Amino acid sequence: MTSTPRSEPAPKVTLSDDEWRAKLTPAEYAVLRQAGTERPHTGEYTDTETEGVYECRACGAELFRSSEKFHSHCGWPSFFDPSESDAVILRADDSLGMRRVEVLCASCHSHMGHVFEGEGYPTPTDQRYCINSISLRLVPKA
Ligand SMILES: [Zn+2]
Repeated sequence: MTSTPRSEPAPKVTLSDDEWRAKLTPAEYAVLRQAGTERPHTGEYTDTETEGVYECRACGAELFRSSEKFHSHCGWPSFFDPSESDAVILRADDSLGMRRVEVLCASCHSHMGHVFEGEGYPTPTDQRYCINSISLRLVPKA
């Protein structure tokens, strides 16, 4: 497992900026389309343990599952793996004077959060996909 950025496939879902603004709330737009970050411990899914699938709030693609969600106590929903490795795109992000790896939805290239590794969490991958709640929509298991 590595978070080395892979080559990026073209988005399957492409909307104009005006179309995204019409589809999303201003708060969703700020995170999903402008790579903002919701304040820690404020997102609706931070501590959620409900079984289900987490979809991209912008395009509905399945990105994460409750079975890979864990309590990281970092203030954002955390997953140790995406549903499928090609469901997300990893992109080097050198903003804010830090070397981080940005996580985007592979289908629509909306911003999800960042992935960190080697932090010592007792998970199978030692990775923490630190994802904004507002970038996701939980579909509870029927
Ligand atoms: Zn998407």
